[in-house]
Amino acid sequence: MNTKAPANSEAFLQCINCKKILFSIDFEQNLRVCNYCGHHHRLSAATRIAWTFDEDTFEELDTELRSGNPLEFPDYVDKLHAAEAKTKRFDSVVSGRAKLEEMPVSVAVADFNFMGGSMGSVAGEKITRTLERAADEQTPAIIFCASGGARMQEGLLSLMQMAKTTAAAQRCAEAGVPYIAVFTDPTMAGVLASYASIADVIVAEPRALVGFAGTRVSKQAGVSKVPDDFQTAEFCLKHGMIDRIVPRKEMRDTLASLVRTLGGHALSAYAANGGKK
Ligand SMILES: [Zn+2]
Repeated sequence: MNTKAPANSEAFLQCINCKKILFSIDFEQNLRVCNYCGHHHRLSAATRIAWTFDEDTFEELDTELRSGNPLEFPDYVDKLHAAEAKTKRFDSVVSGRAKLEEMPVSVAVADFNFMGGSMGSVAGEKITRTLERAADEQTPAIIFCASGGARMQEGLLSLMQMAKTTAAAQRCAEAGVPYIAVFTDPTMAGVLASYASIADVIVAEPRALVGFAGTRVSKQAGVSKVPDDFQTAEFCLKHGMIDRIVPRKEMRDTLASLVRTLGGHALSAYAANGGKK
């Protein structure tokens, strides 16, 4: 694993959950998990990729895709430009090919820093291509989810991505290629209700927020009393919605083990082709 992530310029920082003061060096070495309360702080797509896949094996694809403003939604273009400046990305999903313990995988990683990881036409297309590439190239698919849901500025075009990504996941199933989803904080709404929740195996980071309607919407709908752990990864595990909770330190090994175990058919095609994609 390459742990060379962008260093925090400050010597100390505060855990956003327990508010304790942490040494930045310890925090980075602990993969941005709080030493005191175990809170898994959010990661950018670049850091997630660096900490998960074999060093320098990630090949980014689909970089030509750009969001338009089909509904001429007020301020949408300005928001896109602000998110581009903040993240140095053109949308909320980064997609491509990578290797995990030398096994080829088709990968998409969402970045919450880009407009809350929301899924518009570009994010939906990148997820779709990731799953279709997996099916076409007989490589397992791994998708890291981090999203508040569909992007409201694209209206129905955004909601249509739910159907499109779901159909692409079906293509993986028909091709006999495993699809693994990782729920990170947060995995919500239109993303949860489409490609995220239909993966063959679903793992989640501890205490990740996972749900359909957020607290505000739930209250508006008249839901006033919910369990303390409602909409957490732990609640989902207890109710059979996910397969396992995996601490960040174990994520790479767990994913590699899943790919090795489930990717038999896909990996034999890779081996039969002399190790070429
Ligand atoms: Zn903490």
